[in-house]
Amino acid sequence: MTEIVNLTLENEMDLVLAHKRSMKVAEKLGLTIATQTTFATAVSEISRTVIEHTDNGLLLIGLEQNKTRYVLKAVITFDSEEHLNVTNEGFYYAQKLVPEFELTTAGNAHLVTMKIGLPRSLKLDPLKISELKNFFAEELPLSAYEDIKRRNINLHRIAGEREEEIKRNKEIDEKKTEFISIASHEIKTPITILKAYTQMVKMAKEPVTERLQTLLDKIDIQSGKLISLVQQLLDISKIENGSLQYNMQQVALNDFVTDQAAIMQQILPDHELTVTLGENVTVNVDRLRMEQVFSNLLGNAAKYSPKNSVITIATLRDDDRSITLSVTDKGRGMSADTIKSIFNKFYRSTDVMRTHAGLGMGLFVASKIITDHGGKIWAESTEGGGSTFFFTIPLADTGLVKL
Ligand code: ADP
Repeated sequence: MTEIVNLTLENEMDLVLAHKRSMKVAEKLGLTIATQTTFATAVSEISRTVIEHTDNGLLLIGLEQNKTRYVLKAVITFDSEEHLNVTNEGFYYAQKLVPEFELTTAGNAHLVTMKIGLPRSLKLDPLKISELKNFFAEELPLSAYEDIKRRNINLHRIAGEREEEIKRNKEIDEKKTEFISIASHEIKTPITILKAYTQMVKMAKEPVTERLQTLLDKIDIQSGKLISLVQQLLDISKIENGSLQYNMQQVALNDFVTDQAAIMQQILPDHELTVTLGENVTVNVDRLRMEQVFSNLLGNAAKYSPKNSVITIATLRDDDRSITLSVTDKGRGMSADTIKSIFNKFYRSTDVMRTHAGLGMGLFVASKIITDHGGKIWAESTEGGGSTFFFTIPLADTGLVKL
């Protein structure tokens, strides 16, 4: 059947629409007024019965080619727990009106089909039918009710499409995360072996020339960088599938910060790290994950600031509940727009993309670790005026460290 009109049958207002639409289809086909009325009355009778029993009816009006002739067809489907049959008043009248009437049921599902043969004199052909279809597709709503109904259907359709799209994107995202996880594991193993061999060669008793020693150091440093990149990728897939785990322990903060500063000073020899410590407190943290936060923030501070400039780490107790730590550099700074996105996954500001290597993972991972510790992380910065990254950590229940 070539569908010309479809209409959901939910309430009395739809009954009016069903009547008007079936009348209009018959009129546009060029049927006599008597046939128009007969068809529209039969459709209305069925629609009224359906609306009386359910609100889930659907009316389709269309044309079907039956050998060399066309028939005008109305199909009404609905679900009803009541078993309706042809003796039902509405159905009884409708079947008296149209030459072909059929009611079939399967469980709760009901299907009514009505057909009226069309005279050859109408000279219907696929082109005319297609014009008719377009006419009804473009026809303006017959009433404010139909206008709202159409908009509603449209909104439902859009909402459905959006839901589908979100579902599809989620699936793609899950596949990507799974891929990142598998790829990272696969890459990590050979790099770790490479680094281990490099260290074995460096420690070997055989004499090594100075030039070879320098090259081995370079391989060692670069494979270390690769391992930490791969580790961050693994962290991201763990964050995505909710399997990032923490091994919490009580840590005396000032000792921890001093140790971190000393370690990072070795790794960042071209910058001067200074530490300003506040009150010593105990915090409950995953040591390794906190080290990662320091390493990311200090690594960035060095990466985005000139050689030999100072990077300051400071701690300041806020109140009885938390302590704020900060990392300040005298580097390129960031625009207000950039600051808004820096904690997003894979975000890199366009101005650093061409000048500095990176994958935009460090701050995303750091912010996840801090929020999982019950803290907050944020940045203050002006372009060209350096940056300060702040984060808070809740104090451990024991409060101050007893010295
Ligand atoms: P990456 O450094 O690999 O790009 P991050 O997640 O660590 O990824 O940082 C995201 C972005 O935030 C960087 O690309 C950079 O634009 C900006 N950014 C981070 N730290 C600093 C900083 N100390 N100074 C200036 N910009 C920074």
